[in-house]
Amino acid sequence: MKQFVVITVLWALFSSFIDPPATFQKTAVRTIIIDPGHGGRDEGAPGKYSFEKNIALAISLKLRDRINKELPDINVIMTRTTDVYPSLHERADLANRSKGDLFISIHCNSADPIRHSERTGTRKETYYTGKGKNKKKHTRTVPTYRYWSEPNPAKGTETYIWAAHKNEAKEVAMRENEALYMDSTTSDQMKDFDPDSPQKRIIYTLKTQQYFERSAGLALTVEEEFSKLGRVSREARQRQVGIWVLQATAMPSVLVETGYISNPEEEDYLNSEKGQNELVDGIVKALKRYKYSLENHIPLATADSTDTPTQN
Ligand SMILES: [Zn+2]
Repeated sequence: MKQFVVITVLWALFSSFIDPPATFQKTAVRTIIIDPGHGGRDEGAPGKYSFEKNIALAISLKLRDRINKELPDINVIMTRTTDVYPSLHERADLANRSKGDLFISIHCNSADPIRHSERTGTRKETYYTGKGKNKKKHTRTVPTYRYWSEPNPAKGTETYIWAAHKNEAKEVAMRENEALYMDSTTSDQMKDFDPDSPQKRIIYTLKTQQYFERSAGLALTVEEEFSKLGRVSREARQRQVGIWVLQATAMPSVLVETGYISNPEEEDYLNSEKGQNELVDGIVKALKRYKYSLENHIPLATADSTDTPTQN
């Protein structure tokens, strides 16, 4: 019971500084880290004529430019702007040092080719039985096959967040980066707690939960905007592997798979100006709704940044 009271009190305190009145939330998203996946020696998934690393960079640079133009109060930091490979640790470090409010990693998906086989007829095969003098030659008829593969038709977008069971890793990232990522009000209040106190751990748990919810909300919104643009949306998902960087960053974070480079039609789309601009369009629209919902305390699902702000 005592613990329940402590948690309730902490929650009230916590909510008061993570969820202050709208006037203090004018800059809910001040810094966005854009992370073009792969790079340099890490080419990412191959297509017929292009590599994931180049598409990820091209889309990320366009995304940066669009945010600078349409959301000028947001500071954009890139984990890379050229064909180099920062390690995942370096990317997460940069994000945490920059006190990012949001981390977006840009990738392309890939699916294995589909292998086919078809019986083409038969052929004669020779085989032997016995040994030495008793060795006998035989022939038998065996079927013959033709093998070929074709590109996997999988297509569309997916936006990932870290898996809920990795929340513990996310909490560790937040504890380790406390001084770096927290806004001044929050870190002032955090100073009153002993670093290892259960109270402080509860706050981290709550904050992690909040980041998880924000990331999930943004992931759904990105996918929603993609489907409005006519993309096949394969939905927002939690990923178990390959998203270390999402749980190592002390901020809400999503990974956008912009399409399947293994699908020839999608490879063309991902390499085209039209395709890249369209994808950036969807992400920017989702970002505007995300920012608007945080700043005006309205649910992301209903947030439309073109609305006039409501009084609340
Ligand atoms: Zn990738």
